[in-house]
Amino acid sequence: MAPETLFLTADQALEAVCIDFRGYRPQPMVFSEILRELADDPAACRREPGREGLWIAENRPGPMRWLEGEALVEHMCQTLCRARPAPEQLAAICRRVFQIPCRPGHHPETGRPGIRLQTDMQGFVCRQCGRCCRTLAYRDSLTAADVARFKAAGREDLLAWVGVARTTDGRERYRIWMKPGTNRFATACPFLKRGSANHRWVCAIHEVKPNFCRNYPLSRKHASMTGCPGFGA
Ligand code: SF4
Ligand code: SF4
Repeated sequence: MAPETLFLTADQALEAVCIDFRGYRPQPMVFSEILRELADDPAACRREPGREGLWIAENRPGPMRWLEGEALVEHMCQTLCRARPAPEQLAAICRRVFQIPCRPGHHPETGRPGIRLQTDMQGFVCRQCGRCCRTLAYRDSLTAADVARFKAAGREDLLAWVGVARTTDGRERYRIWMKPGTNRFATACPFLKRGSANHRWVCAIHEVKPNFCRNYPLSRKHASMTGCPGFGA
């Protein structure tokens, strides 16, 4: 049987990489490899043993800047989006981040260029356990494309749960799910509902749900790293 693949445009692939970055603790090893490759400079950053951050060389020959935690993750996302890597380089980044085979390709119907990911998803069956909806870090995962989809569908009821924050460089960043009319996150996704069978959960906005939810899990590796039982025990 041919391996299952998923096609992502370059923008979607960049989004998926940023979602991965934001979903886990900072990954200094992976980040440093990507920064060096993007800058084509082995001295673009430096790791420090025992610390979960990076020294970044931004304005060489100026001093390096130490970044860690959320600041490091956002630096990575902004650097990647600014760099807009060429298809070969983007495929290499996806391979490194998702740990699955990825190669440049074209959409079979539209011909749009992008990245084809070999997801290794054969045998996956969603058990509707709702674990992903309850435990994944999706607060910063909503994209401009998701918001555009909500608007096109006239889903003001969903937009009411979307907060808008500004990044340090003034760009809009969406946050979900915020209690309407407040500045507080909901304690759980408001669209996760009990299914008809015992211990089953369903998404009440399945047809328009965020891409982050739609694409989860991205691969067998992603499922096992995040506790999804969709491949069985
Ligand atoms: S954790 Fe996996 S099996 Fe459970 S609901 Fe999410 S995708 Fe389905
Ligand atoms: S929007 Fe749907 S799929 Fe996404 S976390 Fe909520 S219930 Fe789960």
